[in-house]
Amino acid sequence: MREGQILVTKTVLPEMDEYIEEIKDLWESRWITNMGAKHGILQEKLKKYLGVENVELLVNGHMALELSIQAMELKGEVITTPFTFASTTHAIVRNGLEPVFCDIRRDDFTIDADRIEELITDRTSAIIPVHVYGNICDIDKIGKIAAKYGLRVIYDAAHAFGEKHMGKPAGVFGDASCFSFHATKVFHTIEGGAVCFRDKNLDFGRQISRLKNFGIKNTDVIDETGANAKMNEFCAAMGICNLRHLEEQIEMRRLVAGRYRSHLEGIDGLQLNCVNEVTESNYAYFPVVVHEKIFGSSRNEVCEELMKHGIFARKYFYPLTSTFACYHDRFDASRTPDALYISKRVLTLPIYPELRFADIDRICSVIQSCRKK
Ligand SMILES: *Cc1c(COP(=O)(O)O)cnc(C)c1O
Repeated sequence: MREGQILVTKTVLPEMDEYIEEIKDLWESRWITNMGAKHGILQEKLKKYLGVENVELLVNGHMALELSIQAMELKGEVITTPFTFASTTHAIVRNGLEPVFCDIRRDDFTIDADRIEELITDRTSAIIPVHVYGNICDIDKIGKIAAKYGLRVIYDAAHAFGEKHMGKPAGVFGDASCFSFHATKVFHTIEGGAVCFRDKNLDFGRQISRLKNFGIKNTDVIDETGANAKMNEFCAAMGICNLRHLEEQIEMRRLVAGRYRSHLEGIDGLQLNCVNEVTESNYAYFPVVVHEKIFGSSRNEVCEELMKHGIFARKYFYPLTSTFACYHDRFDASRTPDALYISKRVLTLPIYPELRFADIDRICSVIQSCRKK
């Protein structure tokens, strides 16, 4: 990174000494993966922090989704959103299932629960919604639809780590919630992820713990076609360290988001993320939707202007997963017009705990300079 450049995110790390202290005993035990001591400690700490009954740690968020789908033995079609990261859709397709794309809401970018029912067929087995930018989906409506049609619900909660919604932790909704602990996320373990679920789904938990270790039940019996998706001890140690500082970092993010809002709120043609009093945010992302007809410049023009100033925002989520080249026009994106509209206009601005107010001010003045006078 060049001097003066601002990237969309900057990975947080604990003090080097703190991490070294945390990993020292691994040289004693020589137990560096396969559900070691750190794995167990982090699992317990995350249960408490996330306010959930069960946590299964995994090698990354993607495998949390893939293995959750496999463990539930889903069949046929899965209703999901195209306005997400590649992972959500790939996890469905890699399990041999057919994603059926539902459109999104234009205000909070999550799946539009009012348009789910019309997509249900006798082949539908589940709904996989995404809490986009930490905006929690319409969990009540989705829950009612799932109950009415006997569908499973797996939330992609990669953006919602540590959030609360109507007083409830974000990881308790649906049959399971998948988190990502990638280096770019609010909380990370370098690479990592987890699936959270309730005690009534303990069979599901047992399945996940087996599937993440090749389907090995015991030394003599391998009864599942599992994968290798275990979190190693160095990653778990990173998580233990990072968790100690997380509250403070989220508070710093809150101040960053507030500074952005003070500059960008009320500008015609710029749509900021909706503010929702019932959700306790983690301030992971700061998306802006550029309505070019009103604002005067397009999202791409704003993005390029920022780049000229060494500021790297991200077109996230763009393109829609339903239009990925690997899917060879299998899906018709015109059937999700609102997702298409937003993905062509959204830009996520740099946000991380250490982002300085002076830099935010500079970013916002570049954006403002793109307005049609
Ligand atoms: C990051 C992310 C994932 C994948 O998580 P990894 O830990 O990178 O595998 C899945 N879904 C969404 C919405 C994400 O942002």
